[in-house]
Amino acid sequence: MKVAIIGAGMVGATCAYAMMIKGVASDIVLVDINKEKAEGEIKDLNHGASFVRHVDITAGTYEDCAGADVIVVTAGAAQKPGETRLDLVNRNVKIFKSIIPELERVAPEAILLIASNPVDIMTYVTLKISNYPKERVIGSGTLLDSSRFRYLLSEHYSIDARNIHAYILGEHGDSEIPAWSIANVGGMSVADFCSQCVKNCGGLEREKIFHSTKNAAYEIIRAKGSTYYAIGLALVEIVQAILRDENSVMPVSCLLEGHLGISGVCLSVLAVVGRNGITNMLDLHLSDEEMAGLKKSADVLRKVIDEISVDTI
Ligand code: NAD
Repeated sequence: MKVAIIGAGMVGATCAYAMMIKGVASDIVLVDINKEKAEGEIKDLNHGASFVRHVDITAGTYEDCAGADVIVVTAGAAQKPGETRLDLVNRNVKIFKSIIPELERVAPEAILLIASNPVDIMTYVTLKISNYPKERVIGSGTLLDSSRFRYLLSEHYSIDARNIHAYILGEHGDSEIPAWSIANVGGMSVADFCSQCVKNCGGLEREKIFHSTKNAAYEIIRAKGSTYYAIGLALVEIVQAILRDENSVMPVSCLLEGHLGISGVCLSVLAVVGRNGITNMLDLHLSDEEMAGLKKSADVLRKVIDEISVDTI
C-alpha cells in the first residue's frame, strides 16, 4: 500500500502525518520541488517511528512514485488572506503542467487524488492534460466542507458529528450548496429533528451554519495563514477508502458527463469510492432549489474553465 504525496507544504506534510498515525499505508513518498523541505519533513516524521505502526516514509523524486497505488497532489500556491480559491487558477495550472505528465510517465496505473486549489478546476485540468481515466482522478472537493458542516451541525444539535449525514455539494468554494433535503441526524430528516430539538430555533440557525461552513477557510486563513489539519484528515479518509476498497459514499469532485443534467465540469456530487477510484455516482433526489444551486455552481466553474487560456492548458 504505497502512497505518494506531491507537495510537502502544510497540506502535504499534514496528510503524511495523519496517514502515519492512522497506519493507512506501508510506504509513503513525499516529493517537493524544494527537496530540502521534503527531506526536513521526512526526518521530523520518521523521528516518531517508535510511536506508530511501521511505515517507510521517504523523500523522493517522480521516479520514486512508480508503483504508487494513490498519488495525492497538494503542490501549488495556496490562498493568501483575501484571495478566493479561483484566484489561484493560472499559477496552479502552470505547476500542474510540470507535475501531471511526470506522474503519468512513472505511475500510469495510480489513482490521483487532487487537493490543490481551486480543486475542481485542478481536477478538470488534470484530466485534460493526461490520459488518466475519469474514474481515477478524484478531487477532494467538498469532503472537507461537509466535515465542517457536520461539525457545526453537531455543535448546534449536541449530537456526535458521526451521527450526522449532511453534505455540501458543488464547487469547493463560494458557489457550493448545502444539501438540506438529504441531510439526516440519526436517521431523521433535519426538518423532523429540528421540530423536536430543544433549541427551538425554527430552522433559523441553518443559514448561519451554512454561512460559517462556507467561510471557514477565509476565517482560518485570516487567523493563522492556512488550513491543513482537517484537509489532511479528509485526504486520508479518501486514500483509505481506495486502499481498503471501502466503497464509501463521499462528496468528492469528479467529472460529470450528464450526471444530474450537468456536463463538462468537475464538481462534488456523492460518489462511491473504492479500489478502482470512483465506481458510481448517486442519482440524488435534491430539491428544485438545490438542483438550481448545483447547476449555478457548475456554471461558475465552466466559466473559469473557459477563461483558462488554451496556451495555459
Ligand atoms: P504550501 O505553500 O505550504 O505548500 C505547497 C508546496 O508545493 C510547497 O512546499 C512547494 O514547494 C510545493 N510545490 C510548488 N510547486 C511544485 C512543483 N512544481 N512540484 C512539487 N512541489 C511543488 O501550501 P499548502 O498550504 O500546503 O496548500 C497546498 C495547496 O492545497 C494549495 O493550493 C491550497 O489552496 C490547497 N488546499 C486545498 C484544500 C482542499 O480542501 N482541497 C484545503 C487546504 C489547502
